[in-house]
Amino acid sequence: MLMEKQIEEMPEDTRKQLTVFEDRLPVTIIRGKQKGKTVVITAGMHSGEYPGIPALIALCQKIDPDQLCGTVIAFHCLNVTGLYEHTDALFPEDGKNLNRVFPGKADGTITERMADFFVKEVCPCADFIIDLHSGGFAEPLVPCIFYPAEETVKTESLAVAEALTNQYLLPSYSTVGGFSYAANVMHIPGILVERGYSGLCPKEWIDAYEEDLKRALSALGMISYAFEKCEHTLITEVCYMEFEENGIWHCEIQAGGYVEKGSVLGTVTDLFGDPVHTYYAETSGIVMYHRGGIAAETGGCLAAIAVC
Ligand SMILES: [Zn+2]
Repeated sequence: MLMEKQIEEMPEDTRKQLTVFEDRLPVTIIRGKQKGKTVVITAGMHSGEYPGIPALIALCQKIDPDQLCGTVIAFHCLNVTGLYEHTDALFPEDGKNLNRVFPGKADGTITERMADFFVKEVCPCADFIIDLHSGGFAEPLVPCIFYPAEETVKTESLAVAEALTNQYLLPSYSTVGGFSYAANVMHIPGILVERGYSGLCPKEWIDAYEEDLKRALSALGMISYAFEKCEHTLITEVCYMEFEENGIWHCEIQAGGYVEKGSVLGTVTDLFGDPVHTYYAETSGIVMYHRGGIAAETGGCLAAIAVC
């Protein structure tokens, strides 16, 4: 059944748990007693980015439809097979990254069909989209939020981003990710939130995510939740650096740390230990996330530096 019809058929002031899209996506729909916006929240698009998943599940159990204005559509974990197979981001079935295949294909592989499902069935229901991520298994990260660069939705998206606790707000120009396709192509405002990394999931990260979700719903006028605003740093340009060869990575930077243009970020050696390539910062700025661990591979992300 179409998502829109699922929601229409629900009485106000109710909650529904169901499994949609080829019987594989758990979703909680909460229809509030009062009218208001419809927000779509997704977690687990990348299966090894954990904190958003339990935070969203906990939030869904706590929201009282009686106290809610509008509708929450919460997809607790998009990559369920990857979760149980401990993949970092990819769907085991086709080896693809859902956040790189939007708008997808109706007759494509599993990730392409899921993207197509979101574009055709889920996004049209949404007034706002919140996509929960973390750094990957080897990707230390400072909490940050991506907002869409598209002018028609930027202001509305930033208004919600600024309610959250994550300090750094980064522009997204992408059109192939879930939130970014919806915002930059379909003109639906939204944010992509990043917190946690390296396959870890301490309670404080889960709690911080839940706090941020309550702040977002409050900023959207959907729940009554008082909070004090935090300081934010609005970034307008991010420098993405990649590895140019395979080797062992000797990292000299930290997420959240400042680097001067031209300073050493780290060195790649070969497997015998001989230096192959020393990397220098292409810009001055704050390291949002970078390669942790020791494996460098051609084309892999070395660091994302917020230019400032
Ligand atoms: Zn992610």
